[in-house]
Amino acid sequence: MTAGDPAAELVGRYGSPLYVYDLGRVGRAYDDLRAALPDPSRIYYSLKANPHPRLVAELRRRGARAEVTSRGELASALEAGCPPGELLYSGPGKTPGELGEAVLHGVRHFSAESFGDLARIGAAADAHGVSAQCVLRINAAGAPGGAGLRMTGTASQFGFDPEALLAEPGRLAVPGVRVIGLHFFPLTNARDEEGLCAEIVQSIRTAAELRRRLGTDLRLLDLGGGFAAPYAVPGERPLYPGLRAAVTQELDASLPGWRAGLPVIAFESGRYLVGDSGRLLCTVTDVKDSRGTRYAVLDSGINHLGGLSGLGRLLPMSARPLPGTVPDEPQRATLAGPLCTPADLLGRSVELPGLRPGAVLEFPNVGAYGLTASLLGFLGHPAPAEIVLRGTDVVSATRLALYRRELDGASGAPVTDPIPVKELT
Ligand SMILES: *Cc1c(COP(=O)(O)O)cnc(C)c1O
Repeated sequence: MTAGDPAAELVGRYGSPLYVYDLGRVGRAYDDLRAALPDPSRIYYSLKANPHPRLVAELRRRGARAEVTSRGELASALEAGCPPGELLYSGPGKTPGELGEAVLHGVRHFSAESFGDLARIGAAADAHGVSAQCVLRINAAGAPGGAGLRMTGTASQFGFDPEALLAEPGRLAVPGVRVIGLHFFPLTNARDEEGLCAEIVQSIRTAAELRRRLGTDLRLLDLGGGFAAPYAVPGERPLYPGLRAAVTQELDASLPGWRAGLPVIAFESGRYLVGDSGRLLCTVTDVKDSRGTRYAVLDSGINHLGGLSGLGRLLPMSARPLPGTVPDEPQRATLAGPLCTPADLLGRSVELPGLRPGAVLEFPNVGAYGLTASLLGFLGHPAPAEIVLRGTDVVSATRLALYRRELDGASGAPVTDPIPVKELT
């Protein structure tokens, strides 16, 4: 809590619950990541973490490119001013329809997840008389003993198994496609710098080996990320003081052309870049005791934060009261949301002062995987407003809304303007 924190005043103006993002923090995160990575290298911002166009625009202004995986993320990136020719479109299950739209909007770089995906990317590009530049996502074995949530290395819907590529390299010759490189994303939210370095070093070695054995072009090597950030608990982003030297050394050894841009080295991050820029402010509606457990019922739950945890993975979240709240004795309580499901818990046995109806709480470090990673449509509460600050200036105030649109019976196309699902506020 800092002096002059405008949060309480913002809740007064825009209501509770409320997401508040700080562009200054986005900039600091970008600078920290830049400083940790080899030079030259490219940073892609993964919109999955938070597609808010003002955050994307801030990262773009600083030099990041956008990595998108859907029509919605593409729309956010374009709204943020990202040049379509610089985007990377990735993700499993890209449909012919969305690929055609992406190509039409000028997207030329894709990450291919399978031979079938590669063929569909090629067909979409070919249909528009252009060529798609593809990196092949690799499902590699990774470094032994690596830490974090592992995305690849065993059976996976993500990427090509290297052995499958090596068995049938001829299948990479696809009309409409030029294979320009490789894409790794072996882990997310790495536990420590050592594990992260080991994964990246292993990816570089695998890339060099695959280039040699496949004889493919390697103009772009996307090494993914795994850069960590605290989620819905107090804490600081880690710095990676040893990463740049370790990765630079391996690049020099395995891919000596990289300093001249052959290949261009790229990294991706979502949570590291925006995680600590955001907080969720919400209000205690009810405090009640049930069979020895105290519950604080909030006006915000897994419909606004941690929707993934609603599937049974309750992360250790914690909240703290806003300044100005007269500090009471700290109490231990379970933080429940307003949804009619026992899954709507944001924290178990959290100790915090100021627990009484009307108290405003804040969940820190929720700029990534907050609102859009949650169960927004479930039970029909309005979305929180999203406020973007530069310093103490509000530069954007918006509220996401779900719409129901009537469709034409013959064409399936929308026939009406969006009708907001009834909002009572
Ligand atoms: C989810 C994802 C990211 C972003 O992950 P963070 O942990 O938020 O940095 C980047 N690249 C790919 C391919 C992803 O699936």
